[in-house]
Amino acid sequence: MDRRSFIASVLLGGTALAVIASRGANAASGSFEVTRSDAEWRAMLSDLQYKVMRKEGTERAFSSPLDKNYAAGTYHCRGCELALYSSEHKYDSGTGWPSFWQSLPGAIGTKTDFKLIYPRTECHCRRCGSHLGHIFNDGPAPTGKRHCLNGVSLVFKPA
Ligand SMILES: [Zn+2]
Repeated sequence: MDRRSFIASVLLGGTALAVIASRGANAASGSFEVTRSDAEWRAMLSDLQYKVMRKEGTERAFSSPLDKNYAAGTYHCRGCELALYSSEHKYDSGTGWPSFWQSLPGAIGTKTDFKLIYPRTECHCRRCGSHLGHIFNDGPAPTGKRHCLNGVSLVFKPA
């Protein structure tokens, strides 16, 4: 490899890494089946919904009425209405956020974020990329997972 092609490959490699890094940086980036402009998201969401769903914010603990909702039904994405979680997998984690031990098949995507320095598993709607919450390993059987979600990202539809 001569010097010029070495530099070219380094530049290409750097670009590829930058693309991968930016895809993971924010729930709003990346390619999803349902996409909207930033202005469209702002228009359809409240300030809090926008902050949580599009900027990976977190609602105040115990602020969501869905935290203590145990009615039978399905929790859909506020951004695109995809069915994400079933009431059958919901439990009271005591954290103040709606918690589930599993999502519906193929409903969510995940990535690792380092917002609190230590790595966490972020989860978002598979179809529109809206941020839902995080997945921790201190959940109940049978999965041992705790999907800790923001209620504002969800719309509950009774069965
Ligand atoms: Zn969605």
